Amino acid sequence: MKIILASSEVVPFAKTGGLADVCGALPTELEKLGHQVAVFMPGYRCVQRVDTTIQTLPVELELPIGDKLETVQIGKAKLPDSNVDVYFVMHDDYYHREGLYGDQNGDYQDNCERYVLFCRAVLESIREFDLQPDLVHANDWQTGLIPALLKTEYSENPLYGDIASLLTVHNLAYQGLFPAESMPLTGIDQKYFNWEQMEFHGQLNFLKTGLVFADAINTVSPTYAREIQTVDQGCGLERVLQGRSDRLFGIINGIDPNDWNPSIDSHLEHHFTADFDPAVGCEGKAKCKQSLQTEANLETRADVPLIGIVGRLASQKGWSLILPVLRNWLENVDAQWVILGTGDPDYHDVLTSLHRSHPKKLSLALDFSNPYAHRIEAGADMFAMPSQYEPCGLNQMYSMAYGTIPVVRQTGGLADTVVNANGETIDNKTATGFSFTDYSVEALNETLHRAANVFTNQKKVWHQMMIAGMTTDWSWGSSAKKYEQLYGKTVQWAKEPVK
Ligand code: ADP
Repeated sequence: MKIILASSEVVPFAKTGGLADVCGALPTELEKLGHQVAVFMPGYRCVQRVDTTIQTLPVELELPIGDKLETVQIGKAKLPDSNVDVYFVMHDDYYHREGLYGDQNGDYQDNCERYVLFCRAVLESIREFDLQPDLVHANDWQTGLIPALLKTEYSENPLYGDIASLLTVHNLAYQGLFPAESMPLTGIDQKYFNWEQMEFHGQLNFLKTGLVFADAINTVSPTYAREIQTVDQGCGLERVLQGRSDRLFGIINGIDPNDWNPSIDSHLEHHFTADFDPAVGCEGKAKCKQSLQTEANLETRADVPLIGIVGRLASQKGWSLILPVLRNWLENVDAQWVILGTGDPDYHDVLTSLHRSHPKKLSLALDFSNPYAHRIEAGADMFAMPSQYEPCGLNQMYSMAYGTIPVVRQTGGLADTVVNANGETIDNKTATGFSFTDYSVEALNETLHRAANVFTNQKKVWHQMMIAGMTTDWSWGSSAKKYEQLYGKTVQWAKEPVK
């Protein structure tokens, strides 16, 4: 099959979250399954820093943005270690900026134009480079107009009429909302600006547009696919999603075993595998803990539980539970915490003040550092991820691959990947973590104590849980096969007459 994957972020070129990891890994896996995949992303400033071999193709595309015509160039490179072509949509005014979506003043004011241009550039490139895809795989709101353009402006064009579209929702909370006056920028007929298609409470909604027009939709875990059809987690789009439930699926993400693998990880001083005796423990992991404690300016002690957190400092990640629990633990419990993250300035302030008052128990890096994220995953005993909602979540999988026991709330992909430790799962050796359901401070506190108790008093069980997580197959292989099946069905559905 010929597939075009369009995404605003792709590892290693640009990343703010899990979307980039998925769009960097899935194309290579699909290529291994025999498909021909081309990736499209905007040519942000950071892209050129990563790859200096990008070749600018000798073409210029003229694209309408409202009344204006904008000229874009297209750059081309390969995804590392693959034969997958990556096309970069180059437009200096729109994309050659420090941030992807905004700066210290908030979102860029012209984000609507920036992503209208991107969606149009993807579709025009199909003609320009004679790509003839069977399917365009769009990802998140930034690409939400692609399915709509295919079903409207491009639908009568024989080059485009048969192209199917799949939209993957990586996070329903980010929808790409713009004032109603932005609608003409899309170039899509004003008649589609109605509550059943592109409008959302008086605003233009890119994600809703994609959900309505795509031939099929998926999210990044089966549980999240169910949750987003409820009022509680539907972010106002639950009715739209319920209406499309026969075309809505959940496919869990994989992780890249070349990147996240404790036996070869180039960011680590010491390496380890699951091949250790649960009665004894894992020597390499113990050394990684020691190195992390040194790097994090914490006392080097094997006996103290070391809890890691890496992630965006956003309310989604459960900070309203973490902060009170952390304060309590720093005062009363013999444990160490290592936190790496950036985001909401209010969380920065609270964490900075907690760090100042408890520097021996809390190590804090308000930073984005991939190497340090690897060393935390390798050196911590536990990883806390009590998310309010979690479409898939990658960090809990990285943790399990590194023998770090996740403590999570049972939501979205966390519910689908972490097996809670209880009498039965400990006995049958399937337990990989500790989880709870109530979004409450008490539930997180109790679950962390439960984990710390096993860490201190049931070493063999702890080691067995590490082995269970480390030996689970987290690689992309089986997820890529599920995408392959869904692409096949989507191509069939695209041929059915519109209801
Ligand atoms: P989300 O996409 O909601 O941010 P995920 O767990 O799916 O959450 O993916 C987050 C990705 O970003 C992971 O690869 C994680 O390691 C990485 N990440 C997040 N914050 C940081 C940070 N401060 N430093 C390094 N990596 C980070």
